[in-house]
Amino acid sequence: MTSTSPHPDSGTPQRFPVVIVGAGPAGLTVGNILRAASVDCLVLETETRPFIEQRPRAGVIEEWAVRGLQRRGLADRLLERAQRHTECEFRFAGERYRFEYAQLTGVHHWIYPQQLLVTDLVREYADVRGGAVRFGVRDVELHDVDTDDPSVSYTDPETGRREVVRCEFVAGCDGARGVTRNAVPAGRAHISRSDYGIGWLALLAQAPPSSDCVLFGMHPRGFAGHMPRSADVTRYYLECPPGDDPENWSHDRVWTELQQRLGATGALPLTEGRLIEKRVLDMHNYVVEPMVFGRLFLAGDAAHLTAPIAAKGMNLALHDAFLLADALIAYLTKADTTGLDGYSAACLGRVWDYQEFSHWLSEVYHGTSSGDPYRAGTTLARLRRIFGSPTAALAFAEQYLGKNAEY
Ligand code: FAD
Repeated sequence: MTSTSPHPDSGTPQRFPVVIVGAGPAGLTVGNILRAASVDCLVLETETRPFIEQRPRAGVIEEWAVRGLQRRGLADRLLERAQRHTECEFRFAGERYRFEYAQLTGVHHWIYPQQLLVTDLVREYADVRGGAVRFGVRDVELHDVDTDDPSVSYTDPETGRREVVRCEFVAGCDGARGVTRNAVPAGRAHISRSDYGIGWLALLAQAPPSSDCVLFGMHPRGFAGHMPRSADVTRYYLECPPGDDPENWSHDRVWTELQQRLGATGALPLTEGRLIEKRVLDMHNYVVEPMVFGRLFLAGDAAHLTAPIAAKGMNLALHDAFLLADALIAYLTKADTTGLDGYSAACLGRVWDYQEFSHWLSEVYHGTSSGDPYRAGTTLARLRRIFGSPTAALAFAEQYLGKNAEY
């Protein structure tokens, strides 16, 4: 929502240089970096703190992103507790194919559940760096973001009053279902969309991983994925029709499909367990260009959604957050506009590269089950190329790890 002036019933406005809408990985990272540079900011979040600290989503973090967090003093707990992954396994045509990406590139993945990262970031921001945050806010609205005097209003959950916060900048970090993106008028940004026309049943099982690495199963019945999360929790994915009802997937049906789609010569059966999360994600992407409107800077899923096909969304959110926080600090402390001027273009290079890789990988995952023998044939050719050509293997590994230094 956007309007041209603050809500008329509001009391005395608060004032912060930066208002950050959304306490996900993007918003909390921006907030932490600003606080470390003694720039005041306010984070507004619709959910409660316990809720965001327990909301499971991502798990795969790229090495450059962890280094970026580490440089800003935000990775101590992650580095103590995250698992280091150096290979993954493709299963297709009844066989297993290990892909040792760290050996090829010298780069690895970190596995750290998103809710643990969010817990670390909110603790550091609110409890250590003394950052201001309001949880449980309602009806967030942006005002005058195309002027030098923007503001954000919200309903305080305790008093029910509309509050107004005046600021110099708004960081729109409120994810795919937030409101900040809607503050950009039609015609001032272009939104590109792509819909894969498939769904993934996203599952969390109270069960130890069944392999020491990520498994991708390309099967005529549909794609299946196995992603270790911790010693006793594993994320699984099953390709399903878009909009499917999770209730169509009983415990028995889920495990039968997973065993079948991830089955391969010499593979042990999966270790089954209670399903603690079961929801259908419709696979689609979008990109907002530019990611800036006046004093509003979008970051993370608010600006671009990458279906979890290639495990890229949180990594992109962190990349945006590093660039945005540094640019805001440069402007607010040294009146240097370079970072803010170049922010959108600097983010979008990596965003489009990851979008393209997700598209490519989607065909690898879903071609076999498309029902189209031509697509099944080209999928198999792509897979064989990765395992037959060292050059193709290296190119794949670099994209899988986000290793390209220049975007
Ligand atoms: P979010 O995490 O969505 O945070 C936005 C915050 O804003 C939320 O806390 C929300 O409650 C709040 N909010 C919403 N509306 C408002 C409002 N109006 N006002 C104030 N606050 C608001 N990515 C990877 O990189 N690797 C992976 O392995 C991976 N796996 C995934 C698995 C699944 C099942 C899913 C669903 C996603 C996965 N992703 C992965 C994507 C990743 O989770 C997202 O890209 C990431 O959460 C984006 O972070 P963000 O801070 O931009 O947005």
